[in-house]
Amino acid sequence: MDDIETLARLFEKFPGIGPRQAKRFVYFLLRADGGYRADLIQRISSLSKGVARCDLCGRFMAASLTRSCAVCGNGERNKAQVMVVLKDADIESFESANVYQGTYLVLGTLAQLTQDALPSTLQSILARRFHTSSGVQEIILALPVTTDGEHTSELVKQALKTVVADTVSVSMLARGLSTGSELEYADPQTLRNAFTLRKNN
Ligand SMILES: [Zn+2]
Repeated sequence: MDDIETLARLFEKFPGIGPRQAKRFVYFLLRADGGYRADLIQRISSLSKGVARCDLCGRFMAASLTRSCAVCGNGERNKAQVMVVLKDADIESFESANVYQGTYLVLGTLAQLTQDALPSTLQSILARRFHTSSGVQEIILALPVTTDGEHTSELVKQALKTVVADTVSVSMLARGLSTGSELEYADPQTLRNAFTLRKNN
């Protein structure tokens, strides 16, 4: 495999990027000026040094002295309410919909349909965030409306039974979101409706 193919394969791992787009990125880089390429290389290699994860919700944030992100560290937010999302971009979508005043938890990955129990990484994310003294009263599942997303929601619901007290309410976003949809691409009004009409389980 030549260098063009090798780099294209790496770009194919990006979300939503197919082989043709991956090749376009490589040709773009080949034609880009050296300063741009050097800046990109430097930014990528320093990415893990400049970025940390919030202790509470797990989202990525600029590495600094604070250990919690702007949402978790905000005294105005309702800490008793936690929305479980797949990825950081979902938080941004909900924040711009301006309907939710609680906090978040980022899972980062979904369970596969072939798994009949929640993977241990996800189990420990839930256990760490929802321990009995966490003060959480409502958990809102806001995972993608896809086969894996819905399967994961079911497994999370089962797992939560052993993690949180019976008094904690577990709800799911309403089906204003069409099947197959990702929160990241939903418009603000759809997100507002899905949140307002959320259903208790
Ligand atoms: Zn946070």
